Amino acid sequence: MDVRTLARYPFFKESGQLIRSKDISLEDLVGDIALERARLMGKRRVLVALEKGEVPEAPFASEYEALLELLSYPVARMMVASVQDPYLTRRYALSEAVAANSRLQGEEIVFIEAVAKELEVDLSRENGSARIHFSDFLRYTNQMRSKTWKLINQIVDGGYVILTKQKAIRVLQNAIQKKIEKELEEMVVNDLILRGFQGQLDEIRGIVAEKKARFKAEDLGKVRITRFPPCMYQLLAMVQAGENVPHTGRFAIVSFLHNLGMSNEEIFNVFATVPDFNERKTGYQIEHITGKISSTEYTPPECATMKSYGLCPGPDETCLRIRHPLSYYRLKARMEGQKGTGSPPRKAAK
Ligand code: SF4
Repeated sequence: MDVRTLARYPFFKESGQLIRSKDISLEDLVGDIALERARLMGKRRVLVALEKGEVPEAPFASEYEALLELLSYPVARMMVASVQDPYLTRRYALSEAVAANSRLQGEEIVFIEAVAKELEVDLSRENGSARIHFSDFLRYTNQMRSKTWKLINQIVDGGYVILTKQKAIRVLQNAIQKKIEKELEEMVVNDLILRGFQGQLDEIRGIVAEKKARFKAEDLGKVRITRFPPCMYQLLAMVQAGENVPHTGRFAIVSFLHNLGMSNEEIFNVFATVPDFNERKTGYQIEHITGKISSTEYTPPECATMKSYGLCPGPDETCLRIRHPLSYYRLKARMEGQKGTGSPPRKAAK
């Protein structure tokens, strides 16, 4: 694979081989003055992931530019692994995966096949579509709540799920995110990296802390926000601050508030303070999630799913004892020795 392709898809193992073939060492990446731009680009990669959620792509004017872009990937990874913040790790992995998704849209299915092979996903071509083994399909879609992703709603042929190219890429996005997350969690960071990137790490840590501190939620009548898990607290604060909350986040906070006993009108009023508030759309979403105009009354996603969506800002001590945000609220209520001023959750949390 050439350097331009690897710069666009740096998660390929071949990227490491190419970097080694150029005689670029870890010491060079961390401190060589000639690679200062790669370090700047790496830091930018992390910051953009934190702010916008997707690593943007710039056209490469030359092979050298592409090489710098490629090098910015291991630089960014070293920085993320050094910070050791689960929220940052997930945001970063998600943003790289989402970027890969949008780049893959323009690729031929044969290239999608190569990406799947790299990710050890059993996927092959099928008349312009893709066949993916049902076990891989389940592994990478089990946290997607939409009915369109349920196995029962797929065409299955001889143990393989037949997917459009676009849906196959979406499955691969989840596989890429998981791969990057796992690699970052397992990465061993040595003193050379910590010392070499100290300035950048301080800056990134500061921005992560600032971002978390920016989200200050306000009380919601009978529902106690002091019992909210960090994920729901942050989502609520983002809504109240008029921040752009992704669809998965809106779903999570609405279903959470609903299960705490808030009425649709009360939930609606939480969203009504948002500057770009869309009354009709918000009302529809709330009524759908709470089962008023749909056959399902939803519960919020469990922790594993929240993490895969990049919605978990990192567990606190109480999180270590539960697997579901609703369980967190109930546990906190018990710890406070009260029955809870909000109505109890309507459904048992998983
Ligand atoms: S561990 Fe679970 S409850 Fe805690 S912040 Fe993460 S998603 Fe929320």
